[in-house]
Amino acid sequence: MSTPSPSPLDAPLSELDPDLGRLITQEEARQRDKLRLVPSENYAFPAVQEVAGSVLNNKYSEGYAGRRYYEGQQNIDEVERLAIERLKTLFGCEHANVQPYSGSPANLAVYFAFCSPGDTVMGLSLDAGGHLTHGHKVSISGKYFEAVQYGVTRDDHRIDFDQVAALAREHKPKLLWAGITAYPREVDFDRFAEIAREVGSVLVADMSHISGLVAGGAHMSPVGRAEIVTSTTHKTFRGPRGGMILMDKVHKKAIDRAVFPGLQGGPHNATTAGIAIAAKLATRDTFKDYAAAVVTNAKTLAEGLLSAGIDLVTGGTDNHLILCDLTSKDVPGKVAAQALDRAGIVCNYNSVPFDTRKPFDPSGIRLGTPAMTARGMGTAEMTRLAGWIGEVVAAPDDEAQLSRIAGEVKDLCDQFPAPGVPSA
Ligand SMILES: *Cc1c(COP(=O)(O)O)cnc(C)c1O
Repeated sequence: MSTPSPSPLDAPLSELDPDLGRLITQEEARQRDKLRLVPSENYAFPAVQEVAGSVLNNKYSEGYAGRRYYEGQQNIDEVERLAIERLKTLFGCEHANVQPYSGSPANLAVYFAFCSPGDTVMGLSLDAGGHLTHGHKVSISGKYFEAVQYGVTRDDHRIDFDQVAALAREHKPKLLWAGITAYPREVDFDRFAEIAREVGSVLVADMSHISGLVAGGAHMSPVGRAEIVTSTTHKTFRGPRGGMILMDKVHKKAIDRAVFPGLQGGPHNATTAGIAIAAKLATRDTFKDYAAAVVTNAKTLAEGLLSAGIDLVTGGTDNHLILCDLTSKDVPGKVAAQALDRAGIVCNYNSVPFDTRKPFDPSGIRLGTPAMTARGMGTAEMTRLAGWIGEVVAAPDDEAQLSRIAGEVKDLCDQFPAPGVPSA
C-alpha cells in the first residue's frame, strides 16, 4: 500500500506563490520597521492571528448557536457562545451579536433592524470627524435614508450639542448615531442619551475606534447609555477584522434577525474565535494598562507637537488620536503625510473641521497611538516622534532629512518588537 501523494495544490505558500509570499514578507518588514500612526490600525494579538488562519475558517454555520442550518456545529456553537458570554462580561451588556463581517455591516444591520428606506437618521458629519456609515451622502446610509448631519462648534471644534438637540427636536430621527473616527475628545454618551430620550430616537453608539479604550476603562462606556452599541473588533480592541453589536435583551431578536438572515450568510467562525480571545485578554490588568498608556501617549505626543508649533484641532486629545491642522504651516495634509511616510512615519491626511481645502487634498493629518503603544513604546518615544514630525512638516521636501529620520525611526523600532510580526 502506498500513501496517497499530496496534491500540488496543497503546497505551502512559499512554494506555491513566491510573488505573494514576497509581498507578505515586505509587509511584515513595513509593519516592523516603521511607526504606524493610523489611529484605526493596530497589531492584533498574536493569538488572534493564530486562530484567524485556523480550520475554523472551513466551517459553514448559518444561524445562531443551537439553531443552525448545517450539522457539525459541536465546536462552532461553543466558540460563538464563548465570544458572546465574554463580551457580555467585559462590557456589561445583556446580549452581543458577533457575526457582522466588519464595522460597516454591523451598522447596516442596525439600519435594517430599525429603519425603513426614507426614514430619518442623524449622525456626525464626516468632515467633523464622523463615519461614512452615519449618513454621509455617498454611503447607503445617506442614499436610502433621510440623513441629517450634525457637526462641531466653530469656536472650540467640540461636538455641538445645542445643534444636536435642535436638529433632533426638529427631525425626530429614528436613529441617533454617536461615534467618531477623527474626533480627538471623549464622546459624552450621557448628553446623547438625554437628547435621544427626549425626542424618542434610538441612540446607537458606534465605538469602533474606542472599544479597546472602553474595555480597558480609559473612556466612558456607551453600554447602559445607548440602546445599541456597534463596534469594529480590530482597532483599539486588537482583535480580528470584524464587527460586533452589543444591546439590551429587548433588541436581541431584531438585531440577530437583521444580521442573519437579513444581511449576511454564514458567519466567519475564525473571526468569532478571535473576538473571544480579544474579549478574554481585555479583562486583564495588562490590557487596562495598555488602554491607559494609549491615552497617556497621545497626550504626550500632542504636547510635543504643540511645542513644535503644530496646531491641533481642539488643542489636544482625550483619547487615542490627534488631528493636526497644518494650515498655518502652509503644508497641505497630503504633502505632509507623504513626506512622513518617506521618513518611516505612517499616518493619513484628513480634513479638519470647516476645512477650506477639498477632502482629497485637505489641511490636516490624523495620528494615533494604539499601534505604537502595543509595541511597548512610552512617553519618551512620543516626545522623539513629535520632534521628527515637527522636522518633517517644517521641510517636507528635504529628502536627506527624511532618510536620516527614516533611519532613526528604524533604530527605534528595532528596540520595540511588533506583536505578531516575525523578526527580520
Ligand atoms: C472603522 C469604523 C467603521 C467601519 O468599520 P469597517 O470595519 O472599516 O467597515 C464604522 N464606524 C466607525 C466609527 C469606524 O471608526
